[in-house]
Amino acid sequence: MKKLDQDDMKRQNRSTVFQIIKQHQPISRAAIAKQTGMSPTTVSRIIAEFSDEGYVVDMEEQASAGRGRKSTLIRLREHSVLSVGVQIDREFGMLAIVDVQGNVMTSTSFAREPGEAAETTARRIGGKLTELVEGSGMDRCRLVGLGIGVPGIVNVEDGTVRLSVQLGWREVGLAGMITETTGLPVVVDNELKLKGLAEQLRGAAQGSSRTVLLGFGHGVGSALIRRGEIYRGATNSAGEIAHMMMNPQGMMCDCGNVGCLQTFITIPSLLSEARKMEPIDTFGELFEQWQSGKRWASFLLEQALVYMAMTVNNVVSMYNPDRVIVSGEMIDPYPEIYEALVDLCRTKYIWEPLRGTFSISRSDLARHGVLIGSGLVAQNVYFQLN
Ligand SMILES: [Zn+2]
Repeated sequence: MKKLDQDDMKRQNRSTVFQIIKQHQPISRAAIAKQTGMSPTTVSRIIAEFSDEGYVVDMEEQASAGRGRKSTLIRLREHSVLSVGVQIDREFGMLAIVDVQGNVMTSTSFAREPGEAAETTARRIGGKLTELVEGSGMDRCRLVGLGIGVPGIVNVEDGTVRLSVQLGWREVGLAGMITETTGLPVVVDNELKLKGLAEQLRGAAQGSSRTVLLGFGHGVGSALIRRGEIYRGATNSAGEIAHMMMNPQGMMCDCGNVGCLQTFITIPSLLSEARKMEPIDTFGELFEQWQSGKRWASFLLEQALVYMAMTVNNVVSMYNPDRVIVSGEMIDPYPEIYEALVDLCRTKYIWEPLRGTFSISRSDLARHGVLIGSGLVAQNVYFQLN
């Protein structure tokens, strides 16, 4: 491990103090020193820097009963730090401007061609960001960075998308391209990891110290968030469960193995099976066929539900979380699917000793989760680097 030099220490201290103000504002210098274990002098120096940079303001607190002295509390200046959160998916992209609390100030979306080159998507993002900033009348100087969530495996160190089957990208230097079209420092990460982080900080998993987020949709994946930190593994691939082998006699997977999890439960694999029976285009149509009692649709969806419940059990056995959030295009719009999944988990598929050790819920943030997570991560990087 790299030894921390003095500059690293300063950056780390700034970031720590900023996080504490963000979480506990308004707060006194003394309380910050107490919580961080830093000396009052160090805390005062950092606050003075933040104040000069326009991030924090002092507010005077009335003396508490019995004491004559007034103490000064610090709070963040409203909208002093903003960032851009971006989500890139197969057929669309979304952008939002996010404040330090993770509130979405304004957002927009754009259509993209499946398989579109990264350079084209980067140009679209540059154009949309300019429209968004001009339309909202906010000061572009307040944007400290931009975070992007993509489906696939990402090298977070250099912002390269190593492989995204859904976007059709391999070894794409995305961060550099977006910096070129927006002029902002850029961080790139896997979308489920960012969504999980957002749910723990701002959504359905607030108060949880070990959150698992599962995504069921065009792909299948999971993310583990431990006390506000994304668990990454050695190459940021922790939680990539799509190619866990479930059945050696199963169907061929596009990765070259057989019986991978994704061959049982993703939207494309379910649709390709469904089309053997009827010419349907979307998962919504398959869902309607199930609801209307079509036998073939029941076989398909109920088998998928069993594999989803097995996935919850397998992931929970591996990570031992206190909270599980299930999300994605197969869950968010369909309460019936969510209820059926929870029922299978409760009655059958969760290993006995783990029952009752975690709670399960849907996502609170749904379509804004990735935007909020990517915006907040961009702010954290900014405070660690400056
Ligand atoms: Zn596979």
